Amino acid sequence: MILLDGKQTSADIKVEIAAAVSEIKNQGKRAPHLAAILVGTNGASMTYVGAKVKACELVGFDSTLIDLPVETTEETLLAQIHTLNDNPAIDGFIVQLPLPKHIDEQKVLMAVHPDKDVDGFHPMNVGRMALDLPTFLPATPYGIMELLERYKIPTSGKQVVVIGRSHIVGRPMSILMSQKRPAGDATVTIAHSRTTNLAELTLEADIVVAALGIPEFLTAEMVKPGAVIIDVGITRVPDETKKRGYRIAGDVHFESVAEKASYITPVPGGVGPMTIAMLLKNTLLACERHAANSFI
Ligand code: NAD
Repeated sequence: MILLDGKQTSADIKVEIAAAVSEIKNQGKRAPHLAAILVGTNGASMTYVGAKVKACELVGFDSTLIDLPVETTEETLLAQIHTLNDNPAIDGFIVQLPLPKHIDEQKVLMAVHPDKDVDGFHPMNVGRMALDLPTFLPATPYGIMELLERYKIPTSGKQVVVIGRSHIVGRPMSILMSQKRPAGDATVTIAHSRTTNLAELTLEADIVVAALGIPEFLTAEMVKPGAVIIDVGITRVPDETKKRGYRIAGDVHFESVAEKASYITPVPGGVGPMTIAMLLKNTLLACERHAANSFI
C-alpha cells in the first residue's frame, strides 16, 4: 500500500506557487491577493479560513480576512461581495460555507463575480467545468485530480465509484473523472444516500472516492483488493482522550481498508491540504488573468 501524501504534495505545489509569485514580484507587479469572508464563529469554518490565510502568507500572496458577525444580514453580505467584486486590488475571494440559516447560500454564490470566483462555485464556472472549458475548478475535486495525476495513477478506462453527490465534491468529481483529461477518461458511477447496492458497486471499483461525511463508512469488505481509495471526509468525532475534545475522522475505515488498497489518502494529511493548495493555484490563475486583462 502506498500513502497518497497530500501534505507533501501540497507542500510541493506551494513551493511552485511561491516561485511563480517571486517571478511576478520581480517583474514589478503586485502579488496575488485572496480575500475570504467568514460569517459567524463556526469552529471548523474558522479553522479552514485560518489555514487558507496562513497558506497565502506562506506563498507570498496578500490576503484579507473579512470577519462578519453571525447576525449579519443577507443584504450586508451581498454588499460586501459587491465591494470585493469592484475592488481591482482583489484577484479572487471566497465566502466560507456553511452560512447562517437566514442567508440564502445560492444567492450569495451567484453574487460572486465569475472572474473572482476562485472556489469555482458560480453557475457560470460550474457550467464551464461541465463543458470542459478553462475555468476555476472547485478546489477539493481539483486537488484529488492533481493528487491522482502526480502519483501517476492510471484512470483511463478504470471503474470509479464516487460516493456523495454534493455540488462541491461528489458531483464535480464525477464530472472531472469522466472527462477526457489527465486523471480522467474513467467510467464513473455516482452513488448517494438513495443508492441501494453500494457495496456491490464499490467491490467492482478500481478507484473509490468517499465523500459522504459519515465517519469510517467505507470498510474493507466493501473494497476490491488493489483499489485506490480517496477519503474526502472530515468529521469531528468526540474524543475525550484528545486535548481539544475531538478527533478528525475520514469516511474510510483506514486501518482495515489500507491493508487491501494499492493507494490510499490518510485523514488528516490527504485531500484536505490539497484543497488549500488548489485554492492558491486558482488565485494565482485569477491574478495572471487579471494582469493580462484576459478574463473568462
Ligand atoms: P454533503 O453532506 O453535502 O453531501 C453528502 C453526500 O453523501 C450526499 O450527496 C448524500 O446523498 C451522500 N450520502 C449520505 N449518506 C450516504 C450513504 N449512506 N450512502 C451513500 N451516500 C450517502 O457533504 P460534502 O460537502 O460533499 O462533504 C462530504 C464530506 O467531505 C464531509 O465530511 C466534509 O466535511 C468533507 N469535505 C472535505 C473537504 C476537504 O478538503 N477534505 C472539502 C469538502 C468537504
